[in-house]
Amino acid sequence: MTFSEFNLHDDLLAGVDAMNYLKATPIQEMAIPKILDGRDLIASAQTGTGKTAAYLIPLLDKISHADHDHTSTLILVPTRELAKQIDEQVEGFGYFVQANSIAIYGGGKGDDWDKQRKALETGADIIIATPGRLIAHMQLGYVKFDKIDYLVLDEADKMLDMGFSDDILNIVDKIPAKRQTLLFSATMPNKIREFAKRILTEPEEIRLAVSKPAAGIDQQFYLAYDNQKLPLLAHLIKNSEKPVQSMVLFTSKKSEVNGIVRALSKLGYEARGISSDLEQDDREVVLRDFKNKAFPILVATDVLSRGIDIDNLTHVVNYDTPRDAEDYVHRIGRTARAATTGTAITFISDQEQNRIVNIEKLIEREIDKRSITEELGMGKSPVFDPKRFGRRKDGGRGDNRGGRDGRRPNDQRPSGTGSGEARSDRSGKGRRDRRDKPVPQPAGEGVAMATDSAEPALPLSATHVNGQPADKPKRRKKRRRGPRGEKRENGQEQSPSPAPAAE
Ligand code: AMP
Repeated sequence: MTFSEFNLHDDLLAGVDAMNYLKATPIQEMAIPKILDGRDLIASAQTGTGKTAAYLIPLLDKISHADHDHTSTLILVPTRELAKQIDEQVEGFGYFVQANSIAIYGGGKGDDWDKQRKALETGADIIIATPGRLIAHMQLGYVKFDKIDYLVLDEADKMLDMGFSDDILNIVDKIPAKRQTLLFSATMPNKIREFAKRILTEPEEIRLAVSKPAAGIDQQFYLAYDNQKLPLLAHLIKNSEKPVQSMVLFTSKKSEVNGIVRALSKLGYEARGISSDLEQDDREVVLRDFKNKAFPILVATDVLSRGIDIDNLTHVVNYDTPRDAEDYVHRIGRTARAATTGTAITFISDQEQNRIVNIEKLIEREIDKRSITEELGMGKSPVFDPKRFGRRKDGGRGDNRGGRDGRRPNDQRPSGTGSGEARSDRSGKGRRDRRDKPVPQPAGEGVAMATDSAEPALPLSATHVNGQPADKPKRRKKRRRGPRGEKRENGQEQSPSPAPAAE
């Protein structure tokens, strides 16, 4: 289906053309008409499916037909990476439809707070924000949300996993009840449905079938206790049939990233790590270097995994079994693009075995659980017996979400340097600390962090189209809008607002 079939504003169609979007992706085909119709929507779609444009295009269409002079759209996201990426996409389209956006997120350098404050005071059509940071600004009284018409929750599952649900409800409380609400989530566990009931009204539902892993992926499961994983990894890298040219290793523990990087480096493999501990600038440099093949192994935390726009890998390693089966499919889909082959290695420890049951159910295939630690002199491996850990009735997450001790993976624990920013802690002190904390400047050139994987590869994002920094406060532009379908006189000549000096 082409975009002209949606009867979009001509200016927006020009923007879609400029982005080189020739055909709507499946999620866009399904979501755009419903959103244009004004329906609330709950959609399960992963990054990489074109889900951002699936809501941005119809919302920008609405914005370009209206004559608001206020913030009409609020998009809540879990991480600053996603906030920046969406901001960049708005900017790509916004050049044509004259809509602008502001990205509000924590974890930046000192003057970010003031820049965000100024931008919020100036206003924009669309505010894209991580919940904790937005709440902190809202508490100071200059954020005006009394005219919000559209609320989007993007990657809702991740926001709930990161502990943002109270913050989101708090924010929702402050915006008009009469609004259109759109919720996008990579996975759709019951808690998301329950949450959705609280903020959506008679939503339409869209569920994209998760693609099965490509046939070219060699999926390997290895049983290993935590302390056996590093030597086992070294063995597998050394003896890999295909040379390790580009490997991403996902771990659920932030605290393990440096240890894994060090161990690999000692073995002579150049590896670098990326977690929310790393300052924003540094993260972007690491990602860029990895994409440019400056080093072959990237060690990343789970929480960052969904936002990393990297594919065509020779190897993916799940150092810990992914909690969500869909995540597994999408991660390993980063290898074996098109006609190529790739290797996906997954370690199964003692306590993660129910996750494997869910994965195998999803991929409709049983994978051999290899037990080779003993023959390699690393001691016995765990026995694969998922029944020992009990299964929940919903057949969903049979694991105990973070291990027997009930701890959450570190990366999901609220923290002042979290990958989005911390969920708001309730004490004023926490907020002050966060604000005062020196934070990195976003790189001038955005690192696209869209992904993903099981879907066919899509062309480059807006980042590559305009390469603008994403977090700059943008001036409101005077809009000259005609009725639906009528072109502004000078729309295409007008350039986006200039980047501020601070960048
Ligand atoms: P998303 O799933 O929103 O993260 O999008 C993944 C990538 O697909 C981004 O780089 C988008 O710019 C790109 N994209 C989205 N929709 C389309 C489309 N209809 N045609 C081509 N590329 C697209």
